Amino acid sequence: MNLTDSTATQIRAACSAAASAAPVYARLPISHRAALLRALADALLGARETLVPLADRETRLGTTRLNGELDRTVFQLRGFATQVENGTAQPLLDDPAIPGAPPLGRQRLTRIAVPLGPIAMFAASNFPFAFSVLGGDTASALAAGCPVVVKAHPGHPGLSRAVFDLAAGCLAELHLPEGVLQLVQGSGVDVGLALVRDPDIEAVAFTGSLRGGQALWREANARPRPIPFYGELGSINPVVALPAALQAHGPALATALAGSIVLGCGQFCTCPGVVVVRDDDLGQAFVRQLAEGLAAATPHAMLHAGIRAGFNAGVARLHGHAAVKTLVAAPAGGEAPGAHLFATDATSFIADEGLREEVFGPSCLVVTVKDLDETLDVLAAVQGSLTVTLWGADEDTPDNHRLVVAAQRLAGRVLFSGVPTGVAVTAAQQHGGPWPSSTNAASTSVGYAAMERFLRPVALQDAPAWLIQRRGQA
Ligand code: NAP
Repeated sequence: MNLTDSTATQIRAACSAAASAAPVYARLPISHRAALLRALADALLGARETLVPLADRETRLGTTRLNGELDRTVFQLRGFATQVENGTAQPLLDDPAIPGAPPLGRQRLTRIAVPLGPIAMFAASNFPFAFSVLGGDTASALAAGCPVVVKAHPGHPGLSRAVFDLAAGCLAELHLPEGVLQLVQGSGVDVGLALVRDPDIEAVAFTGSLRGGQALWREANARPRPIPFYGELGSINPVVALPAALQAHGPALATALAGSIVLGCGQFCTCPGVVVVRDDDLGQAFVRQLAEGLAAATPHAMLHAGIRAGFNAGVARLHGHAAVKTLVAAPAGGEAPGAHLFATDATSFIADEGLREEVFGPSCLVVTVKDLDETLDVLAAVQGSLTVTLWGADEDTPDNHRLVVAAQRLAGRVLFSGVPTGVAVTAAQQHGGPWPSSTNAASTSVGYAAMERFLRPVALQDAPAWLIQRRGQA
């Protein structure tokens, strides 16, 4: 197993192989693309017994979670295969010709979409299967007809290599060029920078920190020929618990929220980092129940020392803040951090940008508000987020309209029940939001629409029949 850093020559060779494979792969009959996605899913399933223990050794996420994540990865590979077979990867919109001069008359226009070419994909530390070598970004790029060069996350190098070897075996069995999937690895910024700068790379998909994502996004835009950068970065995922919901289900909601805050040791981009409650009896009872749930929780160890250091710094910042009260600071259990709950008021939250920063890990900040107007002010102060949850906004009232408008302005997904962790892979899914939750609010990194990131629209004017029949695939 080669776990050494990829050299500049190796990175160049990987991108060049992907560029050579791009036209071959894009021209394949669509059934071959689907067959590859299904073969990759089968290979992952078949290797479960070796991959899951390896992933557990490298990430400490636990075999239950990792088995579930492997199943999800298989599900999404097969789901993309079905989408490809249904024609989603080759959209076609036809405007027939109308005799006469514009604006009423026109030539026939057929809008199609073509694969972008080689995609650089940065694997996520917190999803060793579902957002790594064969994760959602790779599945959606392969479905769109694009080769992928994966930058393995240094948090699980052995697993990345093992999954890549399986995938290389599938490519060979299906007689596909090995450049369809390439792997580069290394810890340190040089490998990622070289990848984003490579002239053969046509777009980048990234999941990780705001700092890392921002640096690479700048790099993608500073190239002589800038390329699209699809970054999924930090998010604080506010949950607004309205009195109507707390009256009906307060204790159950507190239990669900505590579970969502500590899920995966808080290392999900959708973990709720802020909960907004009224400063009244119902709100106070809810916060007490939430605190009890968190005090009893036993999060597991974090993914790597860097994430743990970031978490420690985040909670220390809140502990020491004059306007913040510490409600729960559960003692750390060996390598695992304890769960944390803090509280502040709306005025302090709005005044201090530092209180609105993501603390990646099992921590949440309660913000108490007097009324709806203050709730809206709190939401207005928050930067773009992947999700906003509105509990108790089910009635068609002017107040709820205002809340929904505020939530939609802020987030890519608005929930009216349940918790934001657990992101379904479907056609309607939207996982992305305004900056800084993602670098491109119009795209999603989860669900079948993720393919659209790697397709570029082309309008064919008066195209020959053969080209339209082939959906633009020459
Ligand atoms: P990260 O530090 O952003 O790293 C992600 C990937 O990007 C790694 O492969 C990393 O390579 C590379 N990278 C980071 N900064 C770079 C730069 N300036 N230039 C070139 N490459 C760069 O994320 P992480 O290691 O997963 O976790 C660190 C923090 O990210 C967490 O504490 C958390 O705040 C956040 N995070 C967010 C999400 C999310 O879903 N939004 C997920 C995971 C983590 P090297 O490590 O090799 O340098």
